[in-house]
Amino acid sequence: MKLFIGIFLYCREYVVLLMSNFSKGGRHEKYKKLDIFLVGFYLVLSIAAAIYFTVDGLQVHEGKTEVVISVENSQYARFNLPVAEKKEIIIDTGLGHNIVFIEGERVSMHSSDCNDQICVHQGEISKPKEMIVCLPNEVLVQIIGSEKREVDQIAQ
Ligand SMILES: [Zn+2]
Repeated sequence: MKLFIGIFLYCREYVVLLMSNFSKGGRHEKYKKLDIFLVGFYLVLSIAAAIYFTVDGLQVHEGKTEVVISVENSQYARFNLPVAEKKEIIIDTGLGHNIVFIEGERVSMHSSDCNDQICVHQGEISKPKEMIVCLPNEVLVQIIGSEKREVDQIAQ
């Protein structure tokens, strides 16, 4: 698992570096294939990480839907959905600054200072197993529910 996280972090650094190079426009042709491969590899690792987080110890009581916000791989906040009042969760860590909005059963990343902004552009999530991941800031927002079939699939 440590090796996995190591490779993952290494790839992430590389992709961040790539993105800053792209924005400067100073790319060299011969690196392109390697770039595409690494970005693809990074995406696969991201999905694997998301699955790992999901499988790793998230259990819900029957008939409940919850939103769980994790920062740097540990639980930061957790709410039952829908929420009665609109919530604004401010996350400030050494890695960055994120604001999560929860309104009714809809959850979204309102803002983030990450350089890719993927989390913000993802929009709202509201169904069990949907998630918003901010990789640069290591923020994971996921909705968990208790639809029995889904739980069984994870258990297998
Ligand atoms: Zn982000």
